[in-house]
Amino acid sequence: MTIKLTIFFILFIQSVLSAQIKCNASEANARFLKYNSSKHSDHQNSTKPNKFSFNNGEESYQIPVVFHVYGTSFNGKEVNDALIRNALNDLNKDFNGLNDDFSSVNSRFSSIKATMAITFKLAKKDPNGNETAGIVYHSVKNGFGNGSGSDAEIKADAWDNYKYMNVYIQNDLYANGETDNTGVAWFPFTDMSDNNLARVVYNGAFLSTNTDKELASTLTHEFGHWLNLFHTFEDGCNGTDQVDDTPNEDGLHNLKCSSGTNCSGEYVNTENYMGYNGASGCYKMFTKGQVDRMLAALGHPTRETLWQTQNLIDTGLIISEVDNKAPTVVINTPENNSSFEEGTTLELMATFSDPNGDDDIKRVEYFYDDLLVNTVQFMPFENTFTNLQLGEHTIKVIVYDFRGLSNTSEITITVTPRINYPEVTWISSNTVYTQSSNQFATGKIVRRIEIKAIEDTHDIILKGTDFEQQYTTSLEEVLVIDNLAKGTWTVEIPSLNKKISKTLN
Ligand SMILES: [Zn+2]
Repeated sequence: MTIKLTIFFILFIQSVLSAQIKCNASEANARFLKYNSSKHSDHQNSTKPNKFSFNNGEESYQIPVVFHVYGTSFNGKEVNDALIRNALNDLNKDFNGLNDDFSSVNSRFSSIKATMAITFKLAKKDPNGNETAGIVYHSVKNGFGNGSGSDAEIKADAWDNYKYMNVYIQNDLYANGETDNTGVAWFPFTDMSDNNLARVVYNGAFLSTNTDKELASTLTHEFGHWLNLFHTFEDGCNGTDQVDDTPNEDGLHNLKCSSGTNCSGEYVNTENYMGYNGASGCYKMFTKGQVDRMLAALGHPTRETLWQTQNLIDTGLIISEVDNKAPTVVINTPENNSSFEEGTTLELMATFSDPNGDDDIKRVEYFYDDLLVNTVQFMPFENTFTNLQLGEHTIKVIVYDFRGLSNTSEITITVTPRINYPEVTWISSNTVYTQSSNQFATGKIVRRIEIKAIEDTHDIILKGTDFEQQYTTSLEEVLVIDNLAKGTWTVEIPSLNKKISKTLN
């Protein structure tokens, strides 16, 4: 039994490690162009649209999305509403540069990494104007990743391509028995949207927590194709992805997440969402050139209709342009005029809501004494204020919706002196150790420091000449450090921002 279990475990590990991105977008788009030669320039005819400005002048786009889910088992994994919501949430973070590894982009590429103010949101109204979760479940079907053959079935289930982005979740994308293909997507083609065939087709086995975090970012990669991005390795060393700032790649994808050069000696942007290398653990960024190309794609006739205000109303993402009301915020804890001790931490709890639904909240800003200290763009919109300093302070929370409408809640807190400081007692060089012990003979002069923590435990750093040591005080116990050298000694208590010095003679 043990042996069987071990073998199973090894096989499982191997299958996880060998999982990698398999996207057929290059082939699929090339095939589309081959059989539609008159459309060749269509997807390249994209010009950056005029900025879509909200009341406060900031630029951001919302795209209504519908997911069509075919079947119930994706390599044994389930796809449900929560999983799709998580997947879309993570994808939006990737596009907006809010992925937690965005700050650790390789320094060679940090100057060209770029974010895009866009949010893909599940539709709330279907084409008939009825309420919807934006997710439709169908019986199992495969093969929508093929360039043709399923057109009638795709059209039958599609929601108007000029109003919704359509994402199809299947397991065997090409109906060829392979269930390890991750996804495929087509560029903006008028002919496809006219026929309700524009799409991303994605394998449910690689959605959100059904796979590892990096491979799950392949959904971001496919949405990139949908916004007209080529692979960074398009046509290899001598090809082009039609973006100037992305280095060419040889298309072998064997660098994975290590640093390495392409055939021209340039470093490869392995962390780019539109390559394959990053899927092995380091998908982190788009470049400025790629974001410009995606913004231009939003001006393509097949994409421009999606984010127009009237379409956001029609698909339920906003109620209406004129009726839209600002979101609300109420600070629940702490209560106004609460007191805190110096150096402690305040966890702020607030309730946010929006007349258009909670997912219409775009961001929450936290201010401490009118200084912006944090901006939170995804639920839960929490914030913690640490190391409170003495005096009276204002805490302000401002909530914004996607239209730039906002509301504010503000409280005042008072920070009082800390009562529970550890007591630090010094014993000078004149003190004579009066009790005989193994360490010190009676009458010996001992330089000693005693530190007492009254309530909390704290890390304490004792510094002298050529000496630094960290200690931890424990509850109600006196920390005694004996046999110190002459000179100036400092006790630092970082958690309390406290420092006391004394010279021992
Ligand atoms: Zn691809």
